[in-house]
Parts: sequence; C-alpha cells; structure tokens
Amino acid sequence: MYNPQQYNIEDIPEKPFVDCDEIESFLLRGKNGSFEQVRSVICKALNRERLSLYETSVLVNVTDKNLREEIKEAAGELKKKIYGNRIVLFAPLYTGNYCINECSYCGFSCKNQRVDRTSLTFDEIKEQVTALESCGHKRVVVSMGEHPCYGSGYIADLLKTIYSVKEGKGAIRRINVNAAPLDVEGFRKVKDAGVGTYQIFQETYNKKRYREVHRSGKKRDYEWRLTAFDRALKAGLDDVGLGVLLGLYDWRYEVLGLIRHVNHLESTYNVGPHTISFPRLKSALGVNFENNEYDVSDEDFVFLVAVLRLAVPYTGMILTAREPAAIRDMVLRYGVSQIDGGSKIGVGGYSSSCSYMGIEKKHGREQFALNDMRSLDEVIHELIKNGYLPSFCTACYRLGRTGEHFMEFSVPGFIKRFCFSNAILTFAEYLEDYASVLVKQKGYNLIDKNLRQYRGKEGEKVITLLNRIRNGERDLFL
Ligand code: SF4
Ligand code: SF4
Repeated sequence: MYNPQQYNIEDIPEKPFVDCDEIESFLLRGKNGSFEQVRSVICKALNRERLSLYETSVLVNVTDKNLREEIKEAAGELKKKIYGNRIVLFAPLYTGNYCINECSYCGFSCKNQRVDRTSLTFDEIKEQVTALESCGHKRVVVSMGEHPCYGSGYIADLLKTIYSVKEGKGAIRRINVNAAPLDVEGFRKVKDAGVGTYQIFQETYNKKRYREVHRSGKKRDYEWRLTAFDRALKAGLDDVGLGVLLGLYDWRYEVLGLIRHVNHLESTYNVGPHTISFPRLKSALGVNFENNEYDVSDEDFVFLVAVLRLAVPYTGMILTAREPAAIRDMVLRYGVSQIDGGSKIGVGGYSSSCSYMGIEKKHGREQFALNDMRSLDEVIHELIKNGYLPSFCTACYRLGRTGEHFMEFSVPGFIKRFCFSNAILTFAEYLEDYASVLVKQKGYNLIDKNLRQYRGKEGEKVITLLNRIRNGERDLFL
C-alpha cells in the first residue's frame, strides 16, 4: 500500500516521465497488431489484468468495424463484472472564473474579454450548495479558474464552507476538486480540509501541442502540471483524478499518455488514479475550434471509452454533461461509472429550483457549452429505464475506510457487501426526499428487483436499513 513517509521530496521526478517520442513509437508499433493479437489482449483484459502501453496501443489502432464491436462488447462485459449496475452521480459547482492563463480552448482564458468575470462570496456559495442539496445531490466537484486568489487556503475554506451547509435532510458528503496544481504544502492543506478526489487534467500529453494551446501563464509549464500528482502523493493525498481534453491532439496518443501516467503512479507510489476524465472539446464564448483536425467523432469517442475500460479496469471513468444524452447513455454501457445530473456550469448558475424552467441565466460565465440539460430527476429516470442503479454513496470516505478505491477492488466481496448495498440505501434516500412521483415508483421497483440478488443475513441487514430510511431516518450505510 502507498505510504507517504516512504517518499522524499527528492523522489519527485524532475524530468517528465512522459516521453513524447516513446509514445509515438508505441503508437506506430501497435499498428501492426494482428486479429489474433487483438483477441489475446481482449482476453487478458477480461481476466481483469491491467494492459501495458503496447497492448493498449494495439487496441487503439483497431479500425476493423467488427473487431471494434468485439472490443466494445468486452468492455461492457468487464464493466458489468467489476462495477455491476451502479452509476455514481455528482454535480459540478463553479465558484469563480478569474484566470491568469491563456488557454486557446477555454472560455475563461485571461484574454477573453467577453467573459463576465466573477467569484462567488462564501455566502453565495452556500446558496448554491443549498440549491444542490435541495435537488438531492450528495457529491460535488468544485471548479474554478487558475488564479492566485484560488490558492490552497481558498480551497480549504471552500471545503469547510460547503461541508457546513445542511438543507433539510440534505448534505454534501463528498467534495472533489478540479483546480490548479499545488505545491506539496498546498496539497497537504487541502487534504487536511477534507478534499475527496483532487482532479488535474493534463489536457494533452503531447508537449509540443501543449505549448501551442497554452499560450501564457503558469499553465504553460508542462512539467509542473505533469508532476502535480507526485507532489500530491508526497503530501499524503492519494486520491487523484487524471484527465485529457480530447480534441487538442490525436486521441490515440492521449489514451496512451493517460496509461503512461497511470503506470508511473502505480510503479512509483503503488497507487493508481481514482478516476479518469476525457471531456471532448466544445465551443465556448469567444472560442472557435471549427474545422479542428483533432476532433474526435462520436464513433471514435465511444470506442476509446471501451479501450480505456479494458486498459485500466479498476479506475473510475467520468463523463459530464458536455456530451448529449444519447452519447452518455451509450458510453455508460462500455465503461463510464460516474456522471453528473442537473448540471449548471455558469458561475452562480444554480437557483433554489431544480427545474431548468424559469432559471436566471448567467450568460458569459460558462467555461464551455453543455449538451445534456436534463434535470437530476430526468437523468435518474433514464438510468432506471436502462436498469442502472443510481448511487450517492460516500460511505468509505466518511467512515475513514482509507484508500476507498483500493478497498473497493481488492477486498473480496467488498463491492457486493458495501458498494451495492450503499447504492440501494442512498438511492432510497433520494426517492424518499427528492424524486418525482413517477421516479419514486419506478425507483422502488428497481430496488425490489436488486434486493432479490441477496441471500441470507446480508439481505436482511439491507432491508432493515431500508425500512428505517422509509420511516424517516437518514445517513444510514454500511
Ligand atoms: S482551462 Fe483552466 S487554466 Fe486554462 S483558461 Fe480555462 S480556467 Fe484558465
Ligand atoms: S462503499 Fe466505499 S468504495 Fe463503495 S461506492 Fe461507497 S464509498 Fe465507494
């Protein structure tokens, strides 16, 4: 297991562990993979073994339609085996859009004069959290621009503020953060303040392209960003989330870049990332990426999700409402395990109502455009229709079951005993307090169906807790 004491500050690599030429050469070598080789890589993945860089490169290079279908089917099978039918739900919360960086693809770029710059006060943040809690959310990802005013002290205060808000029977129980890379001391501070997963997206692992799209500001420093998680791990923060912005460079290269980063963390610290994100570049106010040579088609996008699922079976995969509902539904089948619902990404965009009707629009405060505008209840309705079990579980984190991700996959029976049961219990809380009449009825039918999977004492325990929730108790989990 990972032990922060084991590592010295000197262990933090000065030289990047991503060698762009090496990745390009793996990409080339993977082009020669035969049908037999592809099938043997699929078999290895179905045995729940992590794939190497070369094996992943064999998969990303597949162009044959039928073989791609086999890869997608295998990813769907593996996902079911490992995660079951649970889908974790969260909401993004943007707290400020000041930024010192000039990123060519982002609406918050410091050179964008059209954006309405603002930072929410802590009282305004409490209002936003109240609105999220009154929809039923229990997990948020807070995001902001990169600016000295959003340093580690700000993030620590933000976490304390959000955790302090309790609206009715609601509470935010886990806060993930998507923000700038910090130094070791900064990571220590946000860890002590109770951060969940700290996400930093490398955006593109190709250094040349990185320098082209990051035109000025601290973010232009490729290595500082790349080694952020080495500093986080040194600080004892072992819950980290990687990501790329698809559309900046060849998606095949980016998939290998992600795997290279995972390999580095696993081999150096014995801990992999908790999550991987792979948003596709979308238009934003003042940003035009039309005729982009690196655009990722829907077909390739769904395929790359399947490849990632096979390559890193134990890493959570996040997809946000940047994607339209139809694409989201499709990739849930092949690998994605966490999605957002009822999202608003304008700074201050949530109101006290969960409906999109009548919301005061915060024009000019968004980083990019959303394509799935469904409310949380509508997203949940769709999940139920497709047989997924919505989960708001945050149990391990709150019980101090450290290494949540590690426990989930390494303790035999853990998923069935804890994750699956807690998904049922937290979903029941949602149905009692926030669901529409239709969703409540369909949701309980789904719970009844899932309860049939239990045998003996385990099932009895869950049913007892479920009855207590129906009788008004909250925050019950295993
Ligand atoms: S991507 Fe992040 S750092 Fe770059 S301009 Fe946007 S908010 Fe700032
Ligand atoms: S029981 Fe733990 S590992 Fe499983 S979903 Fe809940 S928090 Fe995650």
